[in-house]
Amino acid sequence: MTKAILPNSTIGIFGSGQLGRMSAIEARKLGYRVHTYSPGRNTPTGQVADAETTASYDDLFEVRTFAQSVDVVTFEFENVPSATIEAAAEFAPVHPRGQVLHTTQDRLREKTFLEKHGFPLAGFRRIRTIEDLFKGVEEIGLPAVLKTAGFGYDGKGQARINAHSEIEAAFDPLNGREAVLEQFVAFEKEISVVCARGMDGSFAHFGVIENEHTNHILDVSTAPAEVDEATAKDAVEIARAIAEAFEYVGTLAVEFFLEGSGKLRVNEIAPRPHNSGHLTFDACVTSQFEQQIRAVCGLPLGSTEYHSPAAMANLLGDIWENGEPNWAAALADPHIKLHLYGKSEPKRGRKMGHITALADSSKKAAEIVRAARERLLDR
Ligand code: AMP
Repeated sequence: MTKAILPNSTIGIFGSGQLGRMSAIEARKLGYRVHTYSPGRNTPTGQVADAETTASYDDLFEVRTFAQSVDVVTFEFENVPSATIEAAAEFAPVHPRGQVLHTTQDRLREKTFLEKHGFPLAGFRRIRTIEDLFKGVEEIGLPAVLKTAGFGYDGKGQARINAHSEIEAAFDPLNGREAVLEQFVAFEKEISVVCARGMDGSFAHFGVIENEHTNHILDVSTAPAEVDEATAKDAVEIARAIAEAFEYVGTLAVEFFLEGSGKLRVNEIAPRPHNSGHLTFDACVTSQFEQQIRAVCGLPLGSTEYHSPAAMANLLGDIWENGEPNWAAALADPHIKLHLYGKSEPKRGRKMGHITALADSSKKAAEIVRAARERLLDR
């Protein structure tokens, strides 16, 4: 087994957003140093890191210099080019492996990998031309969702097709980019399993988390999800098998659609801590971020036990529209925990922070967290 990377060593993180920030906070609690690399300056991660490199992911000279100054490299952002990862890997161990990133940063590669390994998915077709799209609609039926294959998140680059008359309008914005056509899943719930796999193959998971989206962006997550035991067990087993298939090291999230019939379909995979796992920061013995640090450093994984049921609500830039949110009003409930990511410019749809509530039940926690978020607007 590879030697553990011990506290006082330096962890290099590609990407500099809130996921890196929360990982860096946990890394520093454990006594590690953190060096973040991204094109940004004064970033959410950079603000809490020991060092911040501001350079393009394509600047392989800077990438190599960065990799030489750290003891291990990980990611908080999966859309880092393969050449960057290969250059970094010349000088430092990289977890999860570059191959995992390569697969998950493209929807087609990801779906093809999952299908090959027999995981349940919504039907999909690869789309390059308008003829492919007409044929794809013929084969998988309507409604369907057309998504760009690469670099999409939070519903960006997605179009729902309900009728044949909408096919051309959905195709045009692709501008020649490769896409995937997916069957629309009339799901009852969206759920996720956030889990971690250690270097020794050990596995830990945070159970099933229930997710509600608004405008394709995660809005509220609650744990534990209200699903029956067999579904929860299936979801965790699928997540475990995906982690195994990837020989994964680090924190991994698997998003699922759950249909009324109890059928699970994998929607997508995030090879990093995930928004739905933010509640583990306050609710669990070990957070998804600490788990990521432990895994990539070759330390044993921590307990994922929950102190209590929990819910998390995202805070988007929209709530700044009429001025500074009323933080004190939200925090008037002592069971509310506030996390802000240090972003200076609130924009519509931009994830600025989140709040978490702990309660006796996940339903109650969701009510509390929504009410607290409403109070932010009492100005
Ligand atoms: P994605 O970026 O693929 O996770 O999509 C963002 C959100 O859009 C999902 O969490 C769903 O709420 C919705 N969505 C995406 N694809 C589908 C689909 N095939 N069927 C139903 N809803 C979908």
